[in-house]
Amino acid sequence: MLKVLRRALGFPSVGDVILGRTPKHVALVSVALVLVAITAPGQAAVTVSAAPISVVVNTARSVTGTADKGSTTVALQQETVPGLWRTVATDTPATDGSFSLAMPTWWLGQRNYRVVTTGQQSAVTKLTVKPSYTPAGRASEYDYMVHSTIARWDPCQTIGWRVNAAQATAGALADAKTAFRRLSEATGFRFVYRGTTSVIPKLDSHDSYPRDTQIVVAWIRKTQSNLFKGQMEADAIGSPYYLMGYHNGDGSDAYRISSGAVVIDSRFRVPGGFGSGLTRGDILLHELGHVMGLGHVNAGSEMMNPYMTRGVARYGKGDLAGLEKHGAEMGCLYAGSSKATAGRAVIH
Ligand SMILES: [Zn+2]
Repeated sequence: MLKVLRRALGFPSVGDVILGRTPKHVALVSVALVLVAITAPGQAAVTVSAAPISVVVNTARSVTGTADKGSTTVALQQETVPGLWRTVATDTPATDGSFSLAMPTWWLGQRNYRVVTTGQQSAVTKLTVKPSYTPAGRASEYDYMVHSTIARWDPCQTIGWRVNAAQATAGALADAKTAFRRLSEATGFRFVYRGTTSVIPKLDSHDSYPRDTQIVVAWIRKTQSNLFKGQMEADAIGSPYYLMGYHNGDGSDAYRISSGAVVIDSRFRVPGGFGSGLTRGDILLHELGHVMGLGHVNAGSEMMNPYMTRGVARYGKGDLAGLEKHGAEMGCLYAGSSKATAGRAVIH
């Protein structure tokens, strides 16, 4: 839920007393990866520079090296969860064995990469991708809507999204695309824009979404959707819908967020873009944070603070930490043996 602080005093509304939890300061445990670069006895057949690389998001960077002459293909692999590697780029080495592989610098955070060719693999190179700005706040300043179990999207399934911008002011689609791109950078998820829709999200209306669509962002009047029911003070609402009965890769229980809705009061006019003051960008980043499973925090420096009094619209350090932790680096979700039942997180 997003409420605009229209007056100087920031007393929470009744709704926020109920919904606003004390942020659970979850310490981010940096996973200590035990990495052993396995090479052929005697010598490495694939060599790369193993020096750590640090770049600003979306800065082109390649890893270069040499493979055994005669290698037909080399693949750049990314370690998603410890010990699990997935191929993110391939190249055919030149006749002298040299190769160049573009590293994925669109996803924020630090990850391990290696180059493999038939039967051989290189040493590990660490790549750190940083935001284009210095995020405010602290990495502990995030919370989730569901606390009993990890509730997250499945990075191994495509997440399609549409907008219903018929009632929006000009530029709404462009802002939504920017917001999804930033969400992608923070989570590692790939979002695919599917076009416009006339769907008006309501409680449990995901069945009415087009088949290729998991998230709908709609500018509507509050009376058009029961998502605003009991939340009439809110100017926008973000709501994830999840299925129980899933497992993470390590076998622990998980809920799979299978769809999401963002509804924004079309009569609540704010400037477009992501600049200073309250903007459409603030609203989108906040509500899409909920759709990713994030809850509210009290810290004013984070986008997930429910009061929109900040300056430039961009995720803070805590927002980014929360989005990354339950993002693509958790790996695929797996369906349990029992039939999944559904739930909806408390709407904010
Ligand atoms: Zn909210």
